[in-house]
Amino acid sequence: MLTGPLFYLLSLFFVQFPPSKAMAVKNYAYARPSSIAQYHSVDSTTKYIYLTFDDGPINGTANCITICSREKVAASFFEIGLHQSRNMKGRRLYDEIKAKDDLFSISNHSYSHSYGRYLWFYQHPDSALLDFLKGKDILGPTNNLVRLPGNNAWDTKLAKKASWLVQPLTHKMDSLGWDVIGWDMEWRFNKYGKPVQSPEAIAVLVDSLFAYNQTKTKNHLVILMHDHMFAAPADSIKLEKMIGLLKKRPQYQFQKITRYPGLKNALN
Ligand SMILES: [Zn+2]
Repeated sequence: MLTGPLFYLLSLFFVQFPPSKAMAVKNYAYARPSSIAQYHSVDSTTKYIYLTFDDGPINGTANCITICSREKVAASFFEIGLHQSRNMKGRRLYDEIKAKDDLFSISNHSYSHSYGRYLWFYQHPDSALLDFLKGKDILGPTNNLVRLPGNNAWDTKLAKKASWLVQPLTHKMDSLGWDVIGWDMEWRFNKYGKPVQSPEAIAVLVDSLFAYNQTKTKNHLVILMHDHMFAAPADSIKLEKMIGLLKKRPQYQFQKITRYPGLKNALN
């Protein structure tokens, strides 16, 4: 009887279908990691994060220094001349930041922060500029980067953004060769000065701004925070947590704001 060989041939025929199907499954199974690898290779472009802390030296500045030093992440401090010069504590914190210039930069955030009278401040651009010059004298920054009080304006070689209110001032700053630095996102604070969003929410926001190319400069993201938000231990833990979450993304790199692309006259 040919039953044996016929069965064998038939079995080969039928058995070959499942293997080819299995191969397809295998190929599919193989295709998944490959496509994930492709996704990673596309997404592996380095993305730069600039942690910026405003309004110091003040309560909370010490925690920002400690945490960023411990985590070995670059950070940029936009300081107020008045806060630096009014007492020993301000000067000591300022010296501490300045001593770690491998990680940190100090830039001018005005002398008075307009004393909170933003409208009047920007309606008098000459005196506003004098306020910034006074801040520059006190803070002695080694760069020409400034940030406006209470206003998200940009003026670099590549990034421009200024409302009609602040334009007279930003034009004057531009004529001095200064770069005005705004921000892409803010970790906001509530009426008690404490962080509003969770560290996880901030990390997700960072991811999505990069993913949807919603930053002023592609692959560069500036986060605005305020030193005072992290004065309490429970809140400083949130800063450390947020930094830890961002450090888990291999394509993210922390950088000082003085290395932001398109600056007119970066000195460090
Ligand atoms: Zn400020």
